[in-house]
Amino acid sequence: MKITLTNSPKQKPTGTLGFCRYYTDHMFTMEYDTEHGWHNDQIVPYGNLSLSPATTALHYGQTVFEGLKAFRNKDGEVNIFRPYDNFKRLNDSCDRICIPRFDIDKVMEGLKTLLKIEESWIPTEKGTSLYIRPAIIGVDPFLGVKASDTYLFFIILSPSGSYYAHGLKPVSIYVEDFFSRSAHIGGTGAAKFGGNYGASLKASYDAKKKGYDQVLWLDSNEHKYIEEVGAMNMFFVIDNVVITPSLNGSILPGITRNSLINLSKKLGYKVEERNVSIDEVLQAAKEGRLNEAFGSGTAAVVSPVGKITFKDETYILNNGEIGKISQQLYNELTGIQNGNLPDENGWIVGIK
Ligand SMILES: *Cc1c(COP(=O)(O)O)cnc(C)c1O
Repeated sequence: MKITLTNSPKQKPTGTLGFCRYYTDHMFTMEYDTEHGWHNDQIVPYGNLSLSPATTALHYGQTVFEGLKAFRNKDGEVNIFRPYDNFKRLNDSCDRICIPRFDIDKVMEGLKTLLKIEESWIPTEKGTSLYIRPAIIGVDPFLGVKASDTYLFFIILSPSGSYYAHGLKPVSIYVEDFFSRSAHIGGTGAAKFGGNYGASLKASYDAKKKGYDQVLWLDSNEHKYIEEVGAMNMFFVIDNVVITPSLNGSILPGITRNSLINLSKKLGYKVEERNVSIDEVLQAAKEGRLNEAFGSGTAAVVSPVGKITFKDETYILNNGEIGKISQQLYNELTGIQNGNLPDENGWIVGIK
């Protein structure tokens, strides 16, 4: 792998990091063409890309991405959380969008090399991490609608602050009853595909204008069953049972979702993966049986829901405070990520 280091390293940010406000000095890149396959993997200084205005990805959205995190543990070692699962999912997303699959070991080597070079960018304060964003875009300079013959794979890194500067703050969610995130059958919802997020912007914008933090999506067929919220999977605790919608082809198979299912069982809770209708959730809320609700995703880990509105019904959950199980799961998962709790599942990968 060729490594080109920058001559002008940036000043490291001081003070609040926020989420993806800063990027590190270098990035990993790799190219694809039909003759060579994936090749030319290298580390280069972070910088703008040069693309033709006719680039496939810019017009027809042939893009997929991932989001994962690296942490520095109490012994100063750098650990990545479940990276093989993210790269496996990225290859699955590639299949759906006609992007050629890549060799996971080669990309892991690139990521580890990049992290060794950028180690000093990994923040150390409680709740902070280095956010890792791999992406693949079709780069043919051609305006015909077809899968590109050439691709660019890149990984960029962003030091990120604690999502919860003032503790786990519950969010308000608006249940979307007109727009859909993705087609229930045969759609692209299970892929981390750029177009899914473009299609979600209108509903998010409308919900923000009404004063809500996030949109909760229902299935596109009947607008009856819960899919996900924003870029997070959804969990409900009803009668002390942890319930999450089953992976149905239109829900993104979240790695945090999978981790929380595992940890809930370990903590002794009953877990159900099944269809969950909005009616069931609101009925449980009405009867005081909806103990907690929370979203799960890499960025926030656990995002408790304090308020939920569907049409003209609004419910405040758990007095707008974080629930016991949400807090427990957050502590467990961040404890494993930070190296303060044992990693019994082999989720942690070092960079040495
Ligand atoms: C990324 C994402 C998630 C969460 O996946 P994680 O692997 O837990 O980060 C959930 N839903 C959508 C739509 C997403 O894009």
